Amino acid sequence: MATAKVLAGARVVLPTGTVTDGRVIVDGTKIAGSAPGDAPLVDLSGHWVVPGFVDMHNHGGGGASFTSGTVEDILTGVHTHRLHGTTTVVASFVTGEMDFLAQRAGLLSELAEQGEIAGIHFEGPFISPCRKGAHDETLLRDPDPAAVRKLVDAARGRAKMVTLATELPGGIDSVRLLAEQGVIAAIGHTDATYEQTVEAIDAGATVATHLFNAMPQLGHRAPGPIAALLEDDRITVELINDGTHLHPASLELAFHHKGGEKVAFITDAMDAAGFGDGRYMLGPMEVEVKDSVARLVEGGSIAGSTLTLDRAFKRAVTVDRLSVEDTVQAISANPARLLGMYDRVGSLEPGKDADLVVLDEEFELKGVMRRGEWIVAPQLP
Ligand SMILES: [Zn+2]
Repeated sequence: MATAKVLAGARVVLPTGTVTDGRVIVDGTKIAGSAPGDAPLVDLSGHWVVPGFVDMHNHGGGGASFTSGTVEDILTGVHTHRLHGTTTVVASFVTGEMDFLAQRAGLLSELAEQGEIAGIHFEGPFISPCRKGAHDETLLRDPDPAAVRKLVDAARGRAKMVTLATELPGGIDSVRLLAEQGVIAAIGHTDATYEQTVEAIDAGATVATHLFNAMPQLGHRAPGPIAALLEDDRITVELINDGTHLHPASLELAFHHKGGEKVAFITDAMDAAGFGDGRYMLGPMEVEVKDSVARLVEGGSIAGSTLTLDRAFKRAVTVDRLSVEDTVQAISANPARLLGMYDRVGSLEPGKDADLVVLDEEFELKGVMRRGEWIVAPQLP
């Protein structure tokens, strides 16, 4: 059993604000309120300690795919993201055959049971052929509630989110079904109008899947989904902050409208995250990764990202000029709340899992702790 230790001397970001020369007491797998007198001190002066990152939209990494990999592959992907600070990850599936996705959901529900992943996100197949991105068009289908139900049931209580083009036949009924089941209905890969988007929000949708990407853009007479998703407080917007998917001004616009609490940074990562350039499969689609940008071989559509959340964090603070506190909200607390896990993760508070990230003054990742164990041990003088 791990003994208690005290991380001392760092700037610690707490829900109430940042404490300089703060302490985090780790006892076993949890954060504790006090420590026995003989607990060793780990001196982290000159560093930040922030909550472990929570990624609610992630397709894989380290060369491995959550949609199609073996159990060993999936664990490789999970571990790759842990090395980059993501201590809680939801496994996202791209579009596939219904039976295949149902079978995969069963397999991954066991990994959720074991605590390796936080749950499952179905990004397809209930999305619009007009906004399919890197999803296989031949496998897309309308969000018939019975089909949505089939996938949710196959995940045995571990389905966390389903992305839908809610304007398609069955879309609104499916949103209602998901809301009843306690599964997040996310609006995305959609061709909806402003009015259709409002209808979906009223029916219970609470997330915008990678806002701005794979949806109609703002128009003067047709404001489309973006305006509806930005203006409604019931919606949290996902943002892929990799410098490729979004212009910094688009990100700023989202923060301006949503405030600090209704934004979630995601990676939307595919296999190449934490791995390198080359050719990969994203579900059934072939992808070429060049200079860390993933594109479909056919058509050239952006196909997920190679982002890891440590890079998203550093970019948010150093390029986008967000405060460290807002960045922590967007990368840890807000997604944890949405996933219904804020009682365990998403902030540094006694009783929660000891999941945390150590950053240096340049916001480079220097340490990762998950459930009290160092995944990346800080190299200290
Ligand atoms: Zn997508």
